[in-house]
Amino acid sequence: MTEPNYETGSAAARGAAPTGPAGGGRHGLERGASLAPEAAPLAPEAAPLAPDGAPPRSEAPGPGAETGLRTSAPSPASRLPDVVVVGGGVIGLSVAWRSAGRGLEVTVVDPAPARGATWAAAGMLAPVTEVHYGEEALLRLNLSSAAAWPSFAASLEEASGRQVGYRPCGTLAVAMDGGDRALLEDLYRYQLSLGLDPQLLSSRECRSLEPFLAPGIRGGLLAPGDHQVHNRLLAQALEVAVERAGVRLVRDRVTTVLVDAGRVAGVALATGEHLSTGTVVLAAGCWTGQIAGLPDGALPPVRPVKGQILRLKGPAQAPLLGRNLRGLVAGNHLYLVPRADGTVVVGATVEEQGFDVTVRAGAVADLLRDARALMPALDELELAETWAGLRPGSPDNAPIIGPSALPGLVVATGHYRNGILLTPVTADSLASVLAGDGVPQVIAPFSPDRFEPALEGSGPSQLAREQR
Ligand SMILES: Cc1cc2nc3c(=O)[nH]c(=O)nc-3n(C[C@H](O)[C@H](O)[C@H](O)COP(=O)(O)OP(=O)(O)OC[C@H]3O[C@@H](n4cnc5c(N)ncnc54)[C@H](O)[C@@H]3O)c2cc1C
Repeated sequence: MTEPNYETGSAAARGAAPTGPAGGGRHGLERGASLAPEAAPLAPEAAPLAPDGAPPRSEAPGPGAETGLRTSAPSPASRLPDVVVVGGGVIGLSVAWRSAGRGLEVTVVDPAPARGATWAAAGMLAPVTEVHYGEEALLRLNLSSAAAWPSFAASLEEASGRQVGYRPCGTLAVAMDGGDRALLEDLYRYQLSLGLDPQLLSSRECRSLEPFLAPGIRGGLLAPGDHQVHNRLLAQALEVAVERAGVRLVRDRVTTVLVDAGRVAGVALATGEHLSTGTVVLAAGCWTGQIAGLPDGALPPVRPVKGQILRLKGPAQAPLLGRNLRGLVAGNHLYLVPRADGTVVVGATVEEQGFDVTVRAGAVADLLRDARALMPALDELELAETWAGLRPGSPDNAPIIGPSALPGLVVATGHYRNGILLTPVTADSLASVLAGDGVPQVIAPFSPDRFEPALEGSGPSQLAREQR
């Protein structure tokens, strides 16, 4: 089993020199995204989560053990968690926080919370500029989550007392040459056909919005509703919020989901401890597929998709960008996300390299080459940080969320490039599922059952019948 090893962050002072063999061919560059105008500065290290000395749990079955669903308030005497969440990234923490808000007893297990893709991301909330051909259902989910972001951010800030750096800044996508402009116009027509309202802009109009853009750019597309959040601040706020909500954090790795008599009975940890529960939420990002104990077909088919990314540091008083910028440069996609402290995040590669998180010189050079072509003034900024993270990819690029066919097993992974954007809709939908309110329509197309052929023959489980 591959140990979770999320990213190789490297301060520029340490250098980003590659170690090991070249990664096998040129990496792809992600569809461009823009950064926000004045993002919050990188926050200090996350506040510690629930104390290691949390009270021991009873081994007796609790009220949720039968169905994995809460139907009444927990007995104060009960020490069993109603729900064990495997993985404390943005998805697991937000599901835990919202579920605790519904009165559930929740335990999160993670050896290194919020240090996976959550920490590595750029934080764009970009349903429109991220839309891809054939992903109309995903667009609806993305738009729904984007609409939920303002209230989600406000309630998280209130619950945690921390800023999350939500910035309603909009996004400008620009084209560098004639071929890029043709691609952008195709995207524009596709977006119009979906009922979206992008604005096609001339080069002059783009430069009046963003004066530091290269004079040679060939026009752009404005998506005023594509915003950003500071993903590292978000994770820190979630860590505080779950602690305040009474969620127990266990800093350990789940090795196995325990199954007894055809339903989930708990989890086994690397230290050998067992946690009994009737409901387990699988939210271990790209590592979800490594968890043992489940019947064939019950594990969601996620894989790691590597993203290399970097951060440039500029003066906070004179930011180079006012909004997220996505760029097409000779067919390559990239994005620049400006933070409030003058930082600009530049990303990202999209690579199928397994669990490799090496930062390679070639990837950094390509990102810088294309970023400088779009905005030559970036040359004056300090190269402050490089890192790589692993997106949890699914076979159809859409998340896998909802009750599984195995009673007591709920899945929350596969969020790929949009896990930060999809945090509110995932958290609130799964809190409804776990609290016994059924599966919200908005997540129904993303059920794990689309990847569960081996379990389909056995028919829907009790939990599945109740929840779907
Ligand atoms: C370079 C890059 C840029 C991105 N940019 C954006 C963006 O701009 N906007 C956007 O919306 N999304 C973006 N994403 C995607 C987004 O980061 C992910 O979709 C999201 O973070 C997934 O969250 P997660 O909680 O599922 O996974 P992770 O954040 O990876 O968390 C998984 C957690 O599970 C834990 N874990 C693993 N195995 C076990 C185990 N056996 N037991 C217990 N715990 C375990 C890990 O320690 C980890 O904390 C980006 C991703 C990358 C890599």
